[in-house]
Amino acid sequence: MPSSTHHVVLGNGIAGNHAADVIRKRDPNSRITIISAGALLFYNRYDLPDVFRGRHQWVDYLVHPPEYYESQNITLRRKTRVVELDPQTQTLSLAHRETLHYDKLLIATGGHAYIPARLLDDVGLMHSFHNFRVAMQVQNAVRKNGTVIMLGGDVMGLDLARTIIATGHRVIVALDNRTFWPHEIAQSERARYLQALESMGLDIWDHGKVDHIEAGNSKGPARQVFFEDGSEIRGDVVMPFFGLVPTVDFLATSGIDMERGILVSPQLQTARDNIWAAGDVCQIWSATSNAYRFYYGYRNVKMMGEVAAYNMTGEQSAFESTVDEALEVTSKGLLHSPFWEYD
Ligand SMILES: Cc1cc2nc3c(=O)[nH]c(=O)nc-3n(C[C@H](O)[C@H](O)[C@H](O)COP(=O)(O)OP(=O)(O)OC[C@H]3O[C@@H](n4cnc5c(N)ncnc54)[C@H](O)[C@@H]3O)c2cc1C
Repeated sequence: MPSSTHHVVLGNGIAGNHAADVIRKRDPNSRITIISAGALLFYNRYDLPDVFRGRHQWVDYLVHPPEYYESQNITLRRKTRVVELDPQTQTLSLAHRETLHYDKLLIATGGHAYIPARLLDDVGLMHSFHNFRVAMQVQNAVRKNGTVIMLGGDVMGLDLARTIIATGHRVIVALDNRTFWPHEIAQSERARYLQALESMGLDIWDHGKVDHIEAGNSKGPARQVFFEDGSEIRGDVVMPFFGLVPTVDFLATSGIDMERGILVSPQLQTARDNIWAAGDVCQIWSATSNAYRFYYGYRNVKMMGEVAAYNMTGEQSAFESTVDEALEVTSKGLLHSPFWEYD
């Protein structure tokens, strides 16, 4: 007999897809819909640096074969943006004016790049790297043996930098207090970590805040970055890596409790009935920290998807992280972040 429960998973990333997979296993007959603002099937964003190694077909990044969704009886709605949530009527409003009813909702909308307010005017001169399409644009914009300027240098940027350097390009990291985000580095340890970056082949630029960015002329590098101390660097692309902010804009009128992310219990439940949250979008209550906090990285995000799926199908499991969050300097003097590990 088909179950009448409609599970709606909002977000086509690791948390949402793993949750849908587990819900299907635990409730074979329910209705499951995954909603994604993006155009592509679920693919591995951690592998996107491989565009620099010549991997230029998006299908090569797919986590599941295209027939997976049909075989699992999961409806995937792509290019579908949710603009509002009404917990009273248990409906989502979609940008194209449709409303969708859910019985149980998982919000797994992830995060997007944080851009400091002083740089917002220059966004059009920067390249992001958050999906396949823009990753290909970056790869096309960087000339042979060219230069990438990374502003900030969070773990996602530093991960990408490793591949860019290995493929014969130069990376300049303009330091900021968000360098190494989300790792928190004690001031006394900073020099050791910066030394490790240099050992990895990155060029360090420690000249304070960016003043503005300009487009270069057609003969030279396409971008010039000017700093408040009067210094300047040039490169083919400028990429902001200042960490992530949760994607919660569509929740403004929902009454869902938020600080920076969606506040959830260790069971990943919001204060609203039938709504859970998982992945980069949520802050989980930690009795140890006596605060709501974010947990990043593939293993944490996947585990959140699993815990949410169990609880949406009748359990009361609590999320517990098993990830050691320390940024390591290896015996070879290189950096290793636990957030770079995935399987
Ligand atoms: C190139 C790259 C490298 C990375 N490397 C690392 C790394 O080394 N270590 C690390 O910890 N993290 C890394 N990350 C970050 C990592 O991808 C995220 O932490 C992880 O994907 C979060 O998963 P998630 O399921 O929470 O959300 P996401 O994967 O961000 O998925 C969010 C989903 O929600 C959808 N969505 C958002 N808003 C709406 C809306 N209003 N309507 C409909 N759909 C919506 C989006 O379309 C997307 O499908 C990297 C990211 C990138 C892009």
